[in-house]
Amino acid sequence: MLAPRLSRRVVVVYAALAALLLAYFLSLILRQADQSNSLVDGWGVGVFELVTSGLCIWRAIGSRHRIVPLMLGLGILSWSIGDTVLAAESAGGGTPPVPSLADLFWLSFYPVFYVALVLLARRHLARVGGTTWLDGAVAGLGAAALCACFAFNTILHSVGGNPTTVATDLAYPIGDILLLMLAVGGTAVIPGRKDPQWLLIACAIGCTAIGDTFNLFASSGATSHLGVIVNGVAWPCAILLISASVWVRPVQMSPLARNGPPGFLLPGLGACAGLVILLVDTLHQVTPVAIALATATLMTVGVRLALSVRSLRSLTEIRHRQAITDDLTGLGNRRQLFNLLDAFFADNADPETVGRRLSLLYLDLDHFKEINDSFGHSAGDEVLRQLGPRLTSHLRATDALVRVGGDELAVLVMDTDPTYAATVARRLIDELERPFLLDALSVRVGASIGIAHAPADATESASLLRCADLAMYRAKVGRLPYESYQHELDDEGNPLQLVDELRDAILDNQLEVHYQPQVDLVTGKVSAMEALVRWPHPRLGMIPPLDFIPLAEEAGLMHSLTAFVLGRAVKQCAAWRAAGETMTMSVNVSATNLLDSGFSESVMTTLAQHDVPPACLILEITETMIIRDFDLCKPVVDQFRALGLGVSIDDFGAGVTSLAHLGSLAVSELKLDRSFLTRLATGDTERNLALVRATIALGHKLNMRVVAEGIEDVDALNLLAALGCDLAQGYFISRPMPANELDLHERRDDLSPSSGAAVA
Ligand code: C2E
Ligand code: MG
Ligand code: MG
Repeated sequence: MLAPRLSRRVVVVYAALAALLLAYFLSLILRQADQSNSLVDGWGVGVFELVTSGLCIWRAIGSRHRIVPLMLGLGILSWSIGDTVLAAESAGGGTPPVPSLADLFWLSFYPVFYVALVLLARRHLARVGGTTWLDGAVAGLGAAALCACFAFNTILHSVGGNPTTVATDLAYPIGDILLLMLAVGGTAVIPGRKDPQWLLIACAIGCTAIGDTFNLFASSGATSHLGVIVNGVAWPCAILLISASVWVRPVQMSPLARNGPPGFLLPGLGACAGLVILLVDTLHQVTPVAIALATATLMTVGVRLALSVRSLRSLTEIRHRQAITDDLTGLGNRRQLFNLLDAFFADNADPETVGRRLSLLYLDLDHFKEINDSFGHSAGDEVLRQLGPRLTSHLRATDALVRVGGDELAVLVMDTDPTYAATVARRLIDELERPFLLDALSVRVGASIGIAHAPADATESASLLRCADLAMYRAKVGRLPYESYQHELDDEGNPLQLVDELRDAILDNQLEVHYQPQVDLVTGKVSAMEALVRWPHPRLGMIPPLDFIPLAEEAGLMHSLTAFVLGRAVKQCAAWRAAGETMTMSVNVSATNLLDSGFSESVMTTLAQHDVPPACLILEITETMIIRDFDLCKPVVDQFRALGLGVSIDDFGAGVTSLAHLGSLAVSELKLDRSFLTRLATGDTERNLALVRATIALGHKLNMRVVAEGIEDVDALNLLAALGCDLAQGYFISRPMPANELDLHERRDDLSPSSGAAVA
């Protein structure tokens, strides 16, 4: 803690000075009260103090921050000159005049010292707030009041003589009180109050206050042996502490250090001192100086309290606002939603306001997880931030939009009816279908909305929220933009429970895989199969994949679901291959699988387990998935192809893949969506025929196998055969069925297409 190079020498010098002081203290104890030794008490103490001041000045010369040690050194020098002058005046038994020249030097100590203290405290004060200043003032004024109480009370009774003598004697306690005020106030104010330099000086000031009070008694003749001892050692002791303080390295304040709360002890003691003095004054007269200081202390306490109450009130307000606001979007949060709903239901309980109606729209974003996974959480956050302004523009001032959590929002539509609520839901969905622009990116999200009405559906906040949540799940599962709550929804089971059941079904291998054959349109033989998952639910019957795959996506179950289907499909493919049926097996994969970095490895492991070559497996990726995130799909497709796997664009034609994209994707198969066939049956058939023919030709040019889906009759089959399609799949050929129910050979013979029949 001491300056490094000088530390040992300095410690030795200060130890010697401390030993001298102790010896002097002992000599004072051992001698008679009225016995004095001018050599020791006068010259000895003077020289002791001169040495300590010299040490301070020496420190100032060798230090970069010299002003404080210099001021302290000069202050002590002034005091030691005073002591030396007194020794000279008292030499040979002479009586020093009162006041003497020594008083001039002693009193000069104070202003120099105040400046040093203020400079020392200054580096801490930038971090101090307004109320902490008041704490310091309370502590300092309280200490000053207490000190004045004793010093001035005694002096008024004991000091006599001419006005100069009284003024001189009063100057010391005033100087000390100011010093004490600065020291105690500063100690209360300085952050952390852990500056050892400050603490040493504060202790020194405590010593001077005690010493001067005893000095006062001595000069008034009211002295005792204890008084002589204290009076004798207090100042040398204080001076030694002050001198030592300049060698203590100041504590470096870290800009990151947290300001601890200001201590309560010193201001508390100051306030108590002020109060006690005023109380004592009612029984026993206290000096007016102490009364004035005590009154000032309590007035400062009053101001401090008023400021505290004010800041507490604004803090409470801020906290309340924070508690009901979502940090990211600035919208209200779940708590705010409950506050509003509770207020609505409480008001509605009042007979005068009965009749108000409210609709709660519970909105869950689709594909939000994919945005987070593909572009990072900052992109997801930006989408959420843009949601507020975009959705609010479709609401009235009386409606409220809140973020319930994650990608779920709620809208409270006041004084409404089901038709208007549905209109709002429609508008919100339309708004969400517009792309979100994120720097260079444009992303799309969809949403499902559940609507519940109060008081028709529920008469309590949590129930209303549950109703809207149920309706939202129903909308999601049914792939509907929005859905209103109906009581039957409850009967069919809670979607959360459904998710649990789905998780169990996947883990317990309860899902089933059905297979739909694809026929080669040249040979008429089954040359491929598509694996399609089904969920035989114990209560709800056979659930088709489109009803539970969105649930699995939301609940993060796609990884296990695909692994299950893949395992079953590859095993079945191996079984058919072993039975002499060489055919490819198509398995549908979702966006979540493509994002999974370990997916291709697990596919290869499954193939290896069943000894099926990679070329026999075709992974189907829907066109919409590719359009939504081409940059993500392209490298994954390249990776699959590099591993020798087949890749198919499923439902091609349902979206609008740009030809440029199609050309750069290394897919091996194009699966024409059923909508191609629907289009052929309606509208301008010639143009549509040309379109399908061109699409098939394009696929072939790009070395892709072209498969037609949704073949429901023989005409469609023949038409596609004539247009040059390679494979066909559809109910006309076979519905998806369990493997053991498929009779491949029997079917195969029926399916020799009469090529060209429908195409002129
Ligand atoms: P997809 O891959 O396009 O599968 C073809 C869907 O069309 C199947 O519906 C099939 O039953 C149906 N389909 C077949 N022939 C005809 C027909 O002639 N007419 C009509 N109208 N429909 C026909 P399914 O099994 O309900 O599957 C629906 C979708 O669910 C699939 O569409 C696929 O995208 C998804 N899916 C099915 N299984 C899985 C799976 O294991 N994983 C993933 N990620 N998705 C799956
Ligand atoms: Mg498919
Ligand atoms: Mg398809």
